[in-house]
Amino acid sequence: MPKTIFEMSVKGRKAITLPKNDINYPVEKAIPGKFLRQNETHLPEVSELDVMRHFIKLSQLNHFIEKGFYPLGSCTMKYNPKLNETLVNNEKFNNLHPLQNEESVQGALEVLYELQKDLTEISGMDAVSLQPVAGAHGEFTGIKVIRAFHAANGNDFKDTIILPDSAHGTNPASSTLNGYKVVEIKSNDKGMVDIEELRKVANENTAGFMLTNPNTLGIFESQIEEIAEIIHEVGGLMYMDGANFNALLGLVQPGRIGFDVMHFNLHKTFATPHGGGGPGAGPVGVRLFLEKYLPVPMIKKDEDKFYLDYSHEDSSIGKVQAFFGNFAVNLKAYIYLKMLGSDGLKRISENAIINANYIKAKLQDIYDVPFMDNCMHEFVICGEKHKKAYGIKTLDIAKRLLDKGYHAPTIYFPNIVHEAIMIEPTETESKQTLDEFINSMIEIDKECKETPELVKNAPTNTPTKRVDDAYSVKHLNVKYEF
Ligand SMILES: *Cc1c(COP(=O)(O)O)cnc(C)c1O
Repeated sequence: MPKTIFEMSVKGRKAITLPKNDINYPVEKAIPGKFLRQNETHLPEVSELDVMRHFIKLSQLNHFIEKGFYPLGSCTMKYNPKLNETLVNNEKFNNLHPLQNEESVQGALEVLYELQKDLTEISGMDAVSLQPVAGAHGEFTGIKVIRAFHAANGNDFKDTIILPDSAHGTNPASSTLNGYKVVEIKSNDKGMVDIEELRKVANENTAGFMLTNPNTLGIFESQIEEIAEIIHEVGGLMYMDGANFNALLGLVQPGRIGFDVMHFNLHKTFATPHGGGGPGAGPVGVRLFLEKYLPVPMIKKDEDKFYLDYSHEDSSIGKVQAFFGNFAVNLKAYIYLKMLGSDGLKRISENAIINANYIKAKLQDIYDVPFMDNCMHEFVICGEKHKKAYGIKTLDIAKRLLDKGYHAPTIYFPNIVHEAIMIEPTETESKQTLDEFINSMIEIDKECKETPELVKNAPTNTPTKRVDDAYSVKHLNVKYEF
C-alpha cells in the first residue's frame, strides 16, 4: 500500500508511462485528434496534511465519548477499552468466511461457544442464541420464541402481551410485529409495576409480560417474584428487556428471579460502542424448556470439537439473521468478559449504581426527582418545576448542556415523567467528571433564574445552533455542496 497521496500519484503515473524505447512517441499519431479530450482531466488533488486536517476538524464538530461526558440514559454510553477494537481487527478472525467448514473455524466457533456460556452464567438462563443483531431484534426473536412455545402447547389463542407504561417503544413494537395485542398498565407512585393493575389485566389470553429491570426510571422492580407468579399462573411467560443489564452484572441473575426469556444489548453492556446505528448484537437467553425454539444453528461442543447444531430445526423459530450474528461484536464481548472476570464484572454494576446515586443526591434539592428511592444505574429528573417557574423546558436545559461541553442526557423519555431528563453516568466516569457535570447542572439552574434567555436560546457555542427538529425530520437535507 502506498503511504501518502504523493506516492500514490507517482505510482499511478508509472502505470501509464509509455514504453521506454519510444519515450517521445506522439500521442496524436496514435490517436486521431477528434478522439482526444479537449479539457484537462479534473481529478481532486489534495495533500495528505490537508485531508487529515479536514477530517479531524469535521470529527471535532461532533460529540463523542472520547471527547466528553455522555450521560444518555437507557443507552449506556460508557467508554469501552480501545484494546477490544485492536484485537477484534486481528486478521486471523476478520479474514474468515462464514461458509468455511467447521474444521477450519474451530477458534471462531470456540469464541461463540464460550460467549454463549458466559452469557448463560451471567444471566442465569440455560441457553443463549447469538444470532439477533440489535436489542429490538432480540426482543422480536424472544417474543417469537414465546409464540412458538404457546403454539406447540396448543395455546394459540393467547393473543396479548402486557407491559408497563414505562416500557421502551421497541417493546410494544416487537409484540405487535409478532401478531400480539399490547396491553399497557400504569406504573404506581413508586415508578414500579402496579400489582393490582396487573392482576386486573392478566388472564388466560396473556402470552407474556415484558419488563425492563431495572426499569426505565432506573428503579429495580423488587416485586418481580410476585409479578412472575401472576403471569405464570395464567400460563404466560416473563420477558426481560436487558437493555439496563449494566446495573445487574454479577449481582442479579434474571433467569433466577422469574424471567423466562431475555435479550442482552452487547452494544450497551459489553464493550461495543453504542451509536451511529450499529452494528450491534442482541443475543437472547432462555430457560431450558424454551431452548428448542431458539434460532438455528446453536454452537455446541462435542468433546474437543465445536460444531453448528441444527438438531432442533423442526421446533426452532428458524433463522433471524444470516449466519451466526455479528461476529465482531460477539468477539468484542468475549474479549471484554475474559478481561474482566467475575470481580471486574461485578464492579461495573456497583460503580454504575454508585455514580448515578452520587449525581442524584447532589441534584435532588435543586431539580425535581419524582422517585426518591435509591436508584440503580440511572435516574430521572422532572423538569416541570423549571417550566412553571421560569418557562424553561427540558429541551432548553439539554441544549444548554451542549454549551458546557456535554452530550445531553435522554429527554422526554420515559413518557410517564413530564419534561423528563434521564441521566445515566455509567461506571467509566471519574468523580471529577461527575462533579463537573453536577456543577454545570447547578449553574444552569442559576441561569434559569438570572438569565433565562441564555438558556432558552442555547446552544450558543456549538457549530450548529438550535434546529427546528420537526422541520429537519420532514425535510431531510444531507447533501454537501462542493
Ligand atoms: C436501547 C433499548 C432497547 C432497544 O435496543 P436497540 O439495540 O437500540 O434495538 C430496548 N429497550 C430499552 C429499555 C432500551 O434502552
